[in-house]
Amino acid sequence: MAVRTRREVRRGRSRALLGGAQGRAQRPRAQPGAPAAPPAPSPPGDPRPSRCPPPPPPAVSPPPLAVPARWGHPGAEPDAGARGPAVAAVAPGTRSRRWRRGHEDDVPQGTRTTSPRAGLPGASRREMTAILERLSTLSLSGQQLSRLPRLLEDGLPKMPCTVQEAEVPQLFREPYIHAGYRPTGQDWRYYFLSLFQKHNEVVNVWTHLLAALAVLLRFKTFVEAEQLPVDAWSLPLFVFVLSSVTYLTCSLLAHLLQSKSELSHYTFYFVDYVGVSIYQYGSALAHFYYSSDQAWYDKFWLFFLPAAAFCGWLSCAGCCYAKYRYRRPYPIMRKMCQVIPAGLAFVLDISPVAHRVVVCHLGGCEEDAAWYHTYQILFFLISAYFFSCPVPEKYFPGSCDIVGHAHQIFHTFLAICTLSQLEAICLDYKNRQEIFLKRHGPFSIYLSCVSFFGLVACSALTAYVLRCRIKASLAKKDS
Ligand SMILES: [Zn+2]
Repeated sequence: MAVRTRREVRRGRSRALLGGAQGRAQRPRAQPGAPAAPPAPSPPGDPRPSRCPPPPPPAVSPPPLAVPARWGHPGAEPDAGARGPAVAAVAPGTRSRRWRRGHEDDVPQGTRTTSPRAGLPGASRREMTAILERLSTLSLSGQQLSRLPRLLEDGLPKMPCTVQEAEVPQLFREPYIHAGYRPTGQDWRYYFLSLFQKHNEVVNVWTHLLAALAVLLRFKTFVEAEQLPVDAWSLPLFVFVLSSVTYLTCSLLAHLLQSKSELSHYTFYFVDYVGVSIYQYGSALAHFYYSSDQAWYDKFWLFFLPAAAFCGWLSCAGCCYAKYRYRRPYPIMRKMCQVIPAGLAFVLDISPVAHRVVVCHLGGCEEDAAWYHTYQILFFLISAYFFSCPVPEKYFPGSCDIVGHAHQIFHTFLAICTLSQLEAICLDYKNRQEIFLKRHGPFSIYLSCVSFFGLVACSALTAYVLRCRIKASLAKKDS
């Protein structure tokens, strides 16, 4: 039997202490230039369809930050147990050992004790060691955080892969978007959980979800700062915030849930159009009560709100009818049915603000609220451009499937437009109470706010009637 040297005995003891962590750290790594290992086969019973690509190999994490043994006790042999779990996880042959050996070799024998660390008093060295050990622990926590998305993905139930354009019915296909479609016919749970999946609607959902949260948060701050009472003066502001959150919620639900079936697609987009008409009328109320100039008010006060309510309903009816009536490839009439009533409603609803902005800028505008109104008009016009034109995906078909297509840009600018509008209306509410109280009595305010719910009912009823007709025609097609 060979006699073991002292160094070998110590190495053996150290390996025994390192235990399982060593096994992980000593896993053979791919050499540069060597062929990649083939992916592991799917386990039996894996519900994913065979066309799904194999799951990506687990990410190779960098080894934890190592603390050279000599930092703790210069001249002493490393004691893995005393260094704590973070350091003990470093296996022999990993970066720390190589690093230490390399540096020891580089430093001449006579100069080792002259390093600043070696010259520290005992207490300082212990503090330094403690800090470095903490850093090593933080390094481990960082690695765990970096694994969080994968852990979340693993924690969710197995979900079907997204599919190509050709694998979904024509109704669900979008021009120049080739992939990232969710399969139809899954259960509701899948579509709700697809909020965390990568597909071509997920950015549309998140943009309006975050915008809704931002609106609520901003309004909460305003309510607390101003100690906002619930009275006739504040009612149009509450209605405006309600209408904003409603349209954002309807939109995100439409994008999240429309892929389930053709009937769901129609239903949720009809709900989306109802939300848009609600938002239009909510905006009209706030602009009329808080933001209009006297010159504009004198001319339009009598018919503005009834016209805004009618245009809001017409916008919803036009969009629902266009969706119900026309099939791909869409004729120009479909766009006209959508854009003309919605454009008419926008021009009317924005008219009090547009008048004020023009007058303000002609006189060298210094009013904060007028500037926020200017921004909301600009952002809305930009968003309208991206709603109408499939840019940039038209020029890069297939490259903007998940991120970057026109509808996502439209959502983003619309969300910023709503936040600018909220800011402007809050400022007007605060600074123009005198004008408001001179013009309006509580009765007319309550009446117009009740008419808001009348519009909600009319739009919802229109959408429901068209949904029933769609349902009947789909049932006929299936039979
Ligand atoms: Zn949308």
